[in-house]
Amino acid sequence: MPSLQAFAKSDRKRLPFIETAYQISELANWLLTTAIAVIHSEMAFCGTNRGNWRDDPLTAQYECSMNEKLHTSATVMPGTDEKQPPELIKIAVIGDVHDQWEAADGLALQQLGIDLALFVGDFGNEAVEVVRAIAALDIPKAVILGNHDAWYSASSWGKQKCPYDRTQEDRVQQQLELLGDLHVGYGKRDFPNLNLTVVGARPFSWGGSDWKNPEFYQARYGIHNFAQSTAHMVTAANQAAHNTIIFLGHCGPLGLGDRPDDPCGKDWQPIGGDHGDPDFAAAIDQVRQQGKSIPLVTFGHMHHHLRHTKESLRTPLLVSPDATVYLNAAAVPRIIQTDSDRQRNFSLVYLRNGSVLQASLIWVDANFTVITEQILYSQPTGAIEG
Ligand SMILES: [Zn+2]
Repeated sequence: MPSLQAFAKSDRKRLPFIETAYQISELANWLLTTAIAVIHSEMAFCGTNRGNWRDDPLTAQYECSMNEKLHTSATVMPGTDEKQPPELIKIAVIGDVHDQWEAADGLALQQLGIDLALFVGDFGNEAVEVVRAIAALDIPKAVILGNHDAWYSASSWGKQKCPYDRTQEDRVQQQLELLGDLHVGYGKRDFPNLNLTVVGARPFSWGGSDWKNPEFYQARYGIHNFAQSTAHMVTAANQAAHNTIIFLGHCGPLGLGDRPDDPCGKDWQPIGGDHGDPDFAAAIDQVRQQGKSIPLVTFGHMHHHLRHTKESLRTPLLVSPDATVYLNAAAVPRIIQTDSDRQRNFSLVYLRNGSVLQASLIWVDANFTVITEQILYSQPTGAIEG
């Protein structure tokens, strides 16, 4: 596998496809408001599958070059309010926010024409106002809360640092109440218009194979161990209305590699080791064995910038032999101020026919124009046709 640095150099450019897709999604939005949208467009794009599965010797890097005819339609059925799922579903995954959320982010998501926004958590240290703003976004979405969202409530050292009176208010609960059904931690949210269900992993995860913060999980969820946690996720998945499941976690699952630059690899002393969640991995396995289709597992927590080196970045995406795309969206900081511009990032995933067509990390400028597009994965031609 080439270093991510080399990868970044070769792929940090704006591809013609993205410009075209962006224009198409804009047009689709306009047509949707007139009730019927049918867009028929031919486009060509080329990407590189950078994902590999560490245990699969057959997995190869391959170049993708194809002329792909995409037919995007979102049609309102006559006499009903029900929309048929668009053939191409555009998902934005918002990596760890860490207090970097602005009204412009919501405008950018609308401008990008996304069908679904997935938030992987860590909005701030129990940052109730950030969560309030995100909960109010007028866009289909699902959210999972991260360890920072229970920063002063989950651990004894966090409680000691708490800047507010915990006997008077419970900011974890405030966030949960603001989000309501939008929060999918140990739950699910059906999206009938997209023909998929988002299932949440364990909320407030710190990652790793130790069962941390036992009192917190006992008090909030009545669970004591990873097995009970897995059962919560599987129960949620069993209630999904759709066969296509997207898993949303804060930390990713165990099993994505133990090198420090792997998607959930430990980049602090002692360096190395798999910091993924074992309960999450077990839940994914069980749900897959039950016959559900899992095109995407997305998460954050483990930032792309590594603590032990400035020479490379974390591997953000892997693809399993089951064709599940595992995407770490934690490109932190997600907003950068330059001398002349303010830039923000989103991870984008295109789903078609229940599988991931393409995944990328984009940066948009102050006008919400995509200025860089790092293609992380493109589906091979054969898989699309098959
Ligand atoms: Zn985190």
